[in-house]
Amino acid sequence: METSLPQSFVADQLGASTEEYDLVVIGGGSGGLACSKEASSLGARVAVLDFVDPSPRGTKWGLGGTCVNVGCIPKKLMHHAALSGESMRGAAHYGWKVPPDVPHSWGVLADAVQNHVRSLNWGHRVQLKDKNVEYFNAKGFLVDPNTVKATTAKGKETLLHAKNVVVATGMRPSYPTEVPGAMEYAISSDDIFWMKKPPGKTLVVGASYVALETASFLTGLGYDATAMVRSIPLRGFDQQMAEHVLSHMQEHGTKILHQCVPSAIHSTDSNSPLRVEWLAADGSKAEDSFDTVMMAIGRTPETHSIGLKEIGVQMDAQGFVVGTHHEEAERTSVENVFAIGDILQGRQELTPVAIRAGKLLAHRLFNQSNVQMDYHLVPTTVFTSIEYSCVGLSEEEAEASLGCDAIEIYHAYYKPLEYVIPQKDAQHCYLKVITQRDQPQRVLGMHLLGPNAGEVLQGFAVALRAGLTYETLSSTVGIHPTSAEEMVKVHISKRSGLDPTVTGC
Ligand code: FAD
Ligand code: NDP
Repeated sequence: METSLPQSFVADQLGASTEEYDLVVIGGGSGGLACSKEASSLGARVAVLDFVDPSPRGTKWGLGGTCVNVGCIPKKLMHHAALSGESMRGAAHYGWKVPPDVPHSWGVLADAVQNHVRSLNWGHRVQLKDKNVEYFNAKGFLVDPNTVKATTAKGKETLLHAKNVVVATGMRPSYPTEVPGAMEYAISSDDIFWMKKPPGKTLVVGASYVALETASFLTGLGYDATAMVRSIPLRGFDQQMAEHVLSHMQEHGTKILHQCVPSAIHSTDSNSPLRVEWLAADGSKAEDSFDTVMMAIGRTPETHSIGLKEIGVQMDAQGFVVGTHHEEAERTSVENVFAIGDILQGRQELTPVAIRAGKLLAHRLFNQSNVQMDYHLVPTTVFTSIEYSCVGLSEEEAEASLGCDAIEIYHAYYKPLEYVIPQKDAQHCYLKVITQRDQPQRVLGMHLLGPNAGEVLQGFAVALRAGLTYETLSSTVGIHPTSAEEMVKVHISKRSGLDPTVTGC
């Protein structure tokens, strides 16, 4: 899938090299690339290893890790494709002569997305070269805390000696091995963006970010998509907001199977749909046929067969690396071995988190910095049919940590102006600002459901980190007419019981 660079750049380094590096990074994804480039620009001699094992369905990709190849980037592009369809349908109300039932071509979309991803793969390789980072398209294994064995796809081995090692190997989708047929017939998020043929009628198993985002964009593209929810949607998120997300999806065509788990997947032949059997929480059984079944039941850290345990790096039962140093989260139980990104226990599995942690670590190692990664107040967005963005505490977390009497929750149902003419239903456009009740009413959490929620909330996350209070928020002049201004206008508290629906300008 990758276009090749001059052979000298990659292949010359393979062989019986026993080069000494200041830093060897295992994993060329969000965190590993950021850390290696930053370290090199600070004068360190750096090598980065990246290697992609094909998915069980055989999908492979190039340099850049999950975000670039099978995560954020292709996901956001497909989400945008789905939103484009919705806005095209609404355009008739604004006078555009849009024919009804404009067909969509999966092939055109998939080609465009895949070409963009390939251009990013290439861009990453060029950047490594420009920054003097030595890139090995090889799988890393820690022989000892200072020696990394790099093995290419052809089995060629090279030993790299490193003063410091950063492990940034990320995660891969989990499969329910107890479900017959799952390993054989189901795809995962590692495959969906690279599918050549349209997915058709699709069952997505899971109810978190990956599952709900995928079911949303497939529905938006016109496919018959079902999300199978085992317990609650978006565990860990504010549940009132999560319920809005699920209801919006359902009202926009995604089918939801509540409280169900798959029990078997059968295939008669490769041209026929898959037959899926499932079990509901009340003990009842059901079955249906699907062209595609996608497992989105969580991800497993890629830490099991790279020598970490053998050299004494402490890991938990799921394979997350335990940061053992209370001041430096990324330091492992082995002095010169660090872990960043998704594999670090208890930290957010998000690209900007991995990137920032990687850059700060490079500065601590090679620039006498002591600045630590702050994992608090990290904003995030769920790119579902209605976007949900948040930063800080959920209502449940605020209640649990401070108690109901110590918090105030301001909320509003609002109607984005762009919904008015196409008569779009705005019942799930909702926002919530959680503050301390006592003066100075420090803001603890902000939650927004609606168009461009991620774009809106990024700036509010800055304010929250700077110690935003309700007084500062509500004395800020809004930008009219936007949805973002509803955030500074919010004034109805839940406690008051008043109707939080915004009316008029
Ligand atoms: P990765 O980016 O996964 O990189 C790890 C790399 O190491 C991979 O290339 C892997 O192949 C390689 N590797 C593994 N083992 C070895 C080895 N032994 N030797 C050499 N190389 C190895 N985050 C967001 O912030 N926003 C989003 O919108 C978003 N959307 C997502 C959508 C999906 C479908 C998924 C799955 C994830 C999404 N994420 C999103 C999460 C984000 O992609 C990850 O948090 C991020 O990529 C983690 O970076 P990392 O450096 O820890 O690992
Ligand atoms: P999660 O681990 O967050 O969620 C797993 C989901 O699968 C849960 O709904 C869980 O249900 C369900 N599940 C687990 N096991 C089973 C099973 N055996 N049968 C049926 N359902 C099951 O995983 P994701 O892969 O969705 O996300 C991983 C991380 O990737 C996220 O935490 C996020 O940090 C990152 N990401 C970020 C995105 C963004 O920024 N927009 C987008 C996508 C991913 P239950 O609640 O019952 O356990």
